[in-house]
This record gives sequence, structure tokens and C-alpha cells, in this order.
Amino acid sequence: MTSSNHQIPIAYLTRFSTPLRNSIQILIFPSDILYEGDMAISYKQLSLIVNGSTEYRKAAKPRYKERKGDLKDNERPKRQAYLDQNYPATIWKNGVPFMFHESLNPIAKAAILKAIHFWYRETCIEFRPRTFQKEYLLFIGNDDGCWSTVGRDASQGKQVVSIGDGCEHFGVTSHELAHALGVFHEQSRFDRDESVTFNPRVVEKDLLFNFAKVLVVNWHAENNVFQISPRQMSTYGLPYDIGSVMHYTPTEFSNFPSIPTLTAIDTNLQQTMGQLEGPSFVDVHIMNQHYQCQDKCETQAPCQNGGFTNSRNCKVCKCPTGFGGAYCQLIAPSFSPFCGGILNAEETARRFDITIRQSTTTRSKSCVYHIKAPEGKKIIVNIVKIDSRCIEGCYQDGLEMKMKKDFRPVGYRFCCPESSRRKIVSESNLVPFIVYSRENDFSVSFEYSFVSPNAGFDDEKASNSVIIDNSDGVLASDTPILLQKLGFQRHL
Ligand SMILES: [Zn+2]
Repeated sequence: MTSSNHQIPIAYLTRFSTPLRNSIQILIFPSDILYEGDMAISYKQLSLIVNGSTEYRKAAKPRYKERKGDLKDNERPKRQAYLDQNYPATIWKNGVPFMFHESLNPIAKAAILKAIHFWYRETCIEFRPRTFQKEYLLFIGNDDGCWSTVGRDASQGKQVVSIGDGCEHFGVTSHELAHALGVFHEQSRFDRDESVTFNPRVVEKDLLFNFAKVLVVNWHAENNVFQISPRQMSTYGLPYDIGSVMHYTPTEFSNFPSIPTLTAIDTNLQQTMGQLEGPSFVDVHIMNQHYQCQDKCETQAPCQNGGFTNSRNCKVCKCPTGFGGAYCQLIAPSFSPFCGGILNAEETARRFDITIRQSTTTRSKSCVYHIKAPEGKKIIVNIVKIDSRCIEGCYQDGLEMKMKKDFRPVGYRFCCPESSRRKIVSESNLVPFIVYSRENDFSVSFEYSFVSPNAGFDDEKASNSVIIDNSDGVLASDTPILLQKLGFQRHL
């Protein structure tokens, strides 16, 4: 960061008299940047935050954290915008011409192609290798870090996306490409304080702007006022998703490796934050909205459980994780026929043990269960034991349980031993429960039962038993508590 830039008081932000372009402006709430009343940020920073066209990429001091894939988290770009003043000129309505610079290594190219293929498949956005187009994305590999412009910026022509050293990972390339397509960081949402608490005390003052919230508002030049956009304030009415690939990790920009800058208000979501696996369902939904993909279908499919019409096949839906079938009315398929399915909760607790092993050739394995209870009941899940590698974001091996009524955001994810002995009550009578393993073996034991909405916990009785075993590297058993106590448990 340079300190020689012209300094202007942050208060100017709310009265920025010359909107950067024409009708829509991004507003930064001063209080989010100012935790002490005298702070000013540089004009350069301000324009980077406000004009939505460039990510500020060298703000952080180098701070390397060990992560799979050698990701250096200071290299993740730091801001974004859904709708800016030029929308819809900021989206690639006529497709995205792209080119690879010779500096990209084959691994980076493969990771970029995977991201392109992903965003093509999951949206109505078209991509094509650039031929003669004046405006295009140029992926480069010889600059520091991973960064991108936010949205299409015709003024650049050749619009660079940097996939530098350490960025050659789908979680990063899909994130950068999402920026280039027009999406900003999740924790920049104006409503983020309902979901996460920001601790400014562990962040250096001149980096605080990275945690600014942004609002997209209409600028009415004729009467010199800002007005909040009627477009649901640019979040398209979608819920905050702490498991978005556009969300910072909990310790992003923290001066102390063990003290988070961002803490989930719902503590069960803390380990969901900062995943680098790839875009979440809500990330995909936002992109579809941003590109108005629903308009490609004359009629919308009757999607259930939060799904939306697939613009590449209007007869079927895109489904939240854990759901499948044409209309998201079913359980999503599991990797093996020997796991997944419905677990019927009863008043007496049942114990379920599952181990997924990485001894076979399939790498990415997930088993999807729906824990169901009678109408009007709620489900209690008690995590008894987790055996897994514990990483921020739990995106390699772990479990995800969706305890809320809204199945769209990523649910509670756990992969750390200290997550055990945790009893959680659902909001509805259906809990999608997903166990996944991508890198290492994973085991979890949990108990489940149902309660009437106001009842207390009571998990001391028994019922029938199901045992599954097979050669796909998955061992699962669904056991009444009584049998388990008598020593019939067959593994773990
Ligand atoms: Zn970013």
C-alpha cells in the first residue's frame, strides 16, 4: 500500500458529488471503515472501493498460511460489486471472449478451464476463445497473486485476470472468474452484520477498508440524492451465504493467526466460513440472476426446496446441495449405492456411524441423507464423534447438516474434533445431512431423534437397526442407542 496518495476524509463518501459514471453508485458506510473517528483513506483506495472496476490487490502484507494447494490468502482479491452504475453494461451479455497468456503454466490453465466450464454449465453465460474481439478476459500467470476486475469493464478492452503463483486451484479460479463476471465479496453485503461479527481490533487500520460493506444505490443527478436500488439492494433477495466461495476466511487480514476477524453469529456456522472448494449454490443462483438467465426459459420449472430453473434445460431445476431430481424434490445422489437415503427420526434416539475411506480410486465422495420426522416435529442431531482433518472452511472432508428452513445457503459444516458433543435442533422436519471426503478418511458418529417443538432432550431408548457395508470405501451403520450400548457397534 502506498501512503502518498491524496487523503480525503471518509465522510466525503456519503456526499460524493460526482458520481463516477452515471446512474448507479456504490455507497460505503463510513462507520464500517471508521472504527475510530479520525481515520481517512486514500483517494486511490476510495476510488478502488467505489468505482467497482478494480480490485485492490496488494493491500495485505505477505502473510502465508499453510493450506492445501499453497494458497496464500492475502492473494485473494478484496472486493466486488453485483450491480454497479453501468449495469447491465458490466455483464458479458454477448459472451466472454477469453485468452490465455503464455505465462500461464498448464496447471493454472487447467484450473481456469475448470472454472470457465463450471460457470458455463451452471449459468447461461457463454464463453469463447477470443478471436478479434476488442473486449476480452486475458488470464495471466506472471503477476503477483490472484485478482480480477469486478464485472465487464469496456474501458479496459483487454481485461486482465491474474492467476499467479499459488492461485492454481479451482476454488480460486472460480472466485476470480466470478469477480470478472460481476460478483462481489459476500461479506461486503450491506446485511452482513446479521450473519457475521467483524472484529476491527485485529486488523491494521489501513486495511480496514477491506471490510467495508457496499450498497448499490441509485444516483439521481437531477435532485442530487442517492436512493437504495429497488433491485433488492443488489443481493437479488438471496440469503447471506457464509459458505460462499466469495466469503473471506475467518482469519483473513487478522494480525493474529488464532483470532478471527470475522465470527459467525450462529456459532455453528463458524467452520462453514472460508471454504475454497468452489462456488456454492447461492453463488450460482446470484450469477444466474445477475445474467437474467431465467429469461432464457419461457416457463419456469416447478422447483422445490429453493431450487431454480436451469436455463440450459428449462424443464429441470438447479438444486441446493443435498437435493436432486428434476424439481429438487428428491435426495441428491450419493457417490455409492451403499450409502445415502432417508433416515427416519423417531422419538427414541438412533445412532448413526459412517466412515468414508480414501482407499479407492474415486476421490470426491459424498453420501447424502435426509433425516426426516413427522410433520410439525423438529429434529435433534447430536454429533458424538468426528474423526477428520480439521481445516478452516471444512471444505475437504467433513459433514454438512442443514438445520434451517431455508435450504439454499451452505449449512453447518464440521470437520474438527472439538465439534463433537454438539446437539442442534432443526427448524423443520427435514434435515439434509451430507458426509463428504475428498482428501482423507472421514468418520462421524451422530445421534438423531425428533422432538415436539417445545420438548426437551430425551435420547435413551431403542428401535430397529440397519447395517450397511460394501467395497466402495464406505462403512455405515444406523443403530439404536440400546444396541450400541450393548456393544454391537461394529466399527469406530
Ligand atoms: Zn475476491
